[in-house]
Amino acid sequence: MTPALPTIAIVVPCYNEETALPISIPKMLDVLERLEKQKLAKWDSYILLCNDGSNDHTWKVIEEFHLHDTRIRGISLAHNRGHQNVLLAGLMTVKGHCDAAISIDADLQDDPDAIIEMVRKFHNGKEIIYGVRSSRDTDTWFKRNTAHAFYSFQKVMGLETVYDHADYRLMSNRALNLLAQYGESNLFLRGIIPQIGLENDIVTYKRNERVAGESKYPFAKMLSFSIDGITSFSARPMRWIFMTGLILLLVDILVALYVLVSYFFSDHISAGWASLMLSIWALGSLILIAIGIVGEYIGKIFVEVKHRPRYAISDKLWD
Ligand code: UDP
Ligand code: MG
Repeated sequence: MTPALPTIAIVVPCYNEETALPISIPKMLDVLERLEKQKLAKWDSYILLCNDGSNDHTWKVIEEFHLHDTRIRGISLAHNRGHQNVLLAGLMTVKGHCDAAISIDADLQDDPDAIIEMVRKFHNGKEIIYGVRSSRDTDTWFKRNTAHAFYSFQKVMGLETVYDHADYRLMSNRALNLLAQYGESNLFLRGIIPQIGLENDIVTYKRNERVAGESKYPFAKMLSFSIDGITSFSARPMRWIFMTGLILLLVDILVALYVLVSYFFSDHISAGWASLMLSIWALGSLILIAIGIVGEYIGKIFVEVKHRPRYAISDKLWD
């Protein structure tokens, strides 16, 4: 008896993608067809488009496609909840209704052909397969360098992620079940999924330009995403504040000695204006940074203790 083929679900977060979807959906369907032809996936594999409270015609486009092809399914969130939350909503929707789910962006910057390689590896027993960019030629110089700086910064701050992997990955249904047990509101999938720790592998691909529309992740959003990632996973910044405080205390003792010696043995005490000004500013900014970092954590606790739902699905196109 030949083993049963897996049902594959492709999960796509979509925020204001009315121009990209008409190009990317046919390409994804083509991938499904090739999977089926190559006996890698079952005929009932499908695509779940997840509308993240778009304010253009994204949902209409999804409804249109669903009418003509039931392999196209959709969910729609009541509000814009951001890439990570809508992705989670999609993954939790397909959990129990597929053997493996692949998350991919709607703009096809992640090469959909890599899905075939991912599914092959899934057949070989891997349960989490990370899509990793082999190059960033098509990103702007600025995006490329800031993105790399973020990866390094996260690493220094104690957050382990897969280098140059965004959210393009395959997860087995078992991995989805394990993911469902993580109840945090401050969701950073790239940090959580390596912690699940099932057998994993990577597939490299070339990152393309957006097929249409423009990036919803400008620099400021990337920065806040990175800070969120670090403060969700690591308390190391707080440890650093403490260490800095200790070092400053040592410096403070030296300064105190210097001041006392000057007081007793020198006539030029008023000459200390410059050092006084400098230390006020240096300490002032350090204190503010420290309070800010602590504030980040308290903010996180504040959000977590409320246990609010992470998303609300308002519409669903399934059958
Ligand atoms: N996205 C989303 N909600 C948001 C922002 C983005 O669902 O609030 C989706 C978007 O439609 C795309 C993916 O997340 O499918 C990645 O966004 P984008 O391509 O704009 O980011 P970039 O690739 O430029 O980092
Ligand atoms: Mg993109």
